[in-house]
Amino acid sequence: MSTPNPGTASRNSHSTQLDAVIVGAGLAGLYMLHRLRGLGMSGRVFEAGDGVGGTWFWNRYPGARCDIESMDYSYSFSDELQQEWQWTERYASQPEILRYINHVADRFDLRRDIQFETRVEAATWDDATHRWTIRTERDESVTATFCIMATGCLSTVQPPRFAGLETFQGRWYKTGNWPHEGVDFSGQRVGVVGTGSSAIQSIPIIAQQAEQLFVFQRTPNFSVPAHNAPLDPEHEREVKANYAERRRLSRESRSGYIVPLDERSTQPALDFTLDERQAAYAARWSRGGFGLLAAFGDLYASKEANDTAAAFVHERIRETVHDPVVAEVLSPKDHPVGTKRLCVDTDYYATYNRDNVTLVDVRPAPIEAITPGGLQTSEGEYALDSIVFAIGFDAMTGTLLNIDIRGAGGVALRDTWAEGPRSYLGIAIAGFPNLFTITGPGSPSVLSNMIVSIEQHADWIADCLAWLREQGVAQIEATLDAQDTWVERVNEVAATTLYPTAGSWYMGANIPGKPRIFMPYIGGVGKYRQTCDEVAANGYEGFTLTALPATATP
Ligand code: NAP
Repeated sequence: MSTPNPGTASRNSHSTQLDAVIVGAGLAGLYMLHRLRGLGMSGRVFEAGDGVGGTWFWNRYPGARCDIESMDYSYSFSDELQQEWQWTERYASQPEILRYINHVADRFDLRRDIQFETRVEAATWDDATHRWTIRTERDESVTATFCIMATGCLSTVQPPRFAGLETFQGRWYKTGNWPHEGVDFSGQRVGVVGTGSSAIQSIPIIAQQAEQLFVFQRTPNFSVPAHNAPLDPEHEREVKANYAERRRLSRESRSGYIVPLDERSTQPALDFTLDERQAAYAARWSRGGFGLLAAFGDLYASKEANDTAAAFVHERIRETVHDPVVAEVLSPKDHPVGTKRLCVDTDYYATYNRDNVTLVDVRPAPIEAITPGGLQTSEGEYALDSIVFAIGFDAMTGTLLNIDIRGAGGVALRDTWAEGPRSYLGIAIAGFPNLFTITGPGSPSVLSNMIVSIEQHADWIADCLAWLREQGVAQIEATLDAQDTWVERVNEVAATTLYPTAGSWYMGANIPGKPRIFMPYIGGVGKYRQTCDEVAANGYEGFTLTALPATATP
């Protein structure tokens, strides 16, 4: 067997012969590159933006902030990094996270292998040379033994498809691709379309600036308070003193971060009296964040149990929002709480008490068009100077399918996934040798602390590449059988929960025509890691391993 061609290109060179191409310079691409370097392999990262950061590079809308606490939403691979970096708030803001990512890129000298402002258009497997050819929009091609998609789960913004948008005389924006120079809405009549996490974070800030704000809501979402605050120095000291253990527990946890013991329960909600349940929810509500859904063990599995949590949030909305009609319209009734991504906010519901904020329910009176002067619903026209579209992403598969990926025999991923994504472990796809997807569909990804899942995948891939080299294996490909079994398992686990009952972006339900399949693996980060480790320990069980034919020189 011959080796998979390590080190054929120097790291700085623009040689067209690389060990690996990585697509995307977000948190995943950067760490993957760092790991490749550690193996002495040559790699190049292609990045569409002119800077690092991925989703944190593009999503610069007002109020953008992570909903996982900053001490946990950070890399764990370097103890010096995690000890030296100082977060300033309990939940880090987008600018701070972007500073952190830039710091990491500089600290580990990663930029020299990143080609910015270069969108990848196609990746084609060559059966004869056993290599990928990656073509960019600059019409430049490189070949690599491995192609690693670090393209992110929320990186293709859903375009606003409203009739008449091109006639609008004002300015319009997408939260997922916000102008770098920022936007000042002072003195303006602003419309926000959408009420998902992005809208819920930006609405309170825009309301403070704008003369008038209209929020066009089709479906309300559940939101819990962040209770964001400056980071408590005592908490920071404690975490840093025990970081290694905290990280280990996070890796073994269900969601990739630790829910404090006093917030977590495995007991069924209905085993308690109404007063006991209220007290349990209230304690978590006053602490803020996702803890609310850890109050009882069956909130994701039993609709009856979940209804008790939903009723608690409805009460909080009624308590906060002065106008009972507005409170009612803001109260989600169409999905169990948590089955669409729970939003984490600062003053979201209270914002509707402001005189300059109007909630427009576009469920009974849909948006018909954007007009030169504003937005037309079936009930009337709203005069607007600016419109903010916070309408979400073609999540998890959008970016992969925007690239023309062709595997063995020239088969297109777009065809293979026409009925929805199918992947082995969310990391590899049958028919697409030497292709890896970091946090791909079928892995915990968006149902976890992303950075924990990113590190796990990048480590697994790096260890795999090292092993292939050691073993003299040139080609690795998931078998159809292993993939089918895994997809079945992903579906089985999802079916034990309430998740598939919601028309969420996890299901692809937010994109017209997208197949409805529950995409992430919900069995838990710790269990998933164990499965991946077992696959590796068993000599990459479920993969076909092939030696490069002696005649084919890469
Ligand atoms: P989203 O959750 O998909 O929300 C999109 C919103 O736009 C929904 O309210 C949707 O209403 C509405 N919408 C879409 N098309 C519409 C149309 N044609 N007419 C009227 N309304 C329309 O998108 P997002 O807010 O960008 O959030 C996506 C995910 O990104 C989040 O779930 C979260 O995972 C992540 N995120 C995280 C953070 C954070 O860390 N704090 C912040 C932002 C985003 P319908 O429900 O009726 O379709």
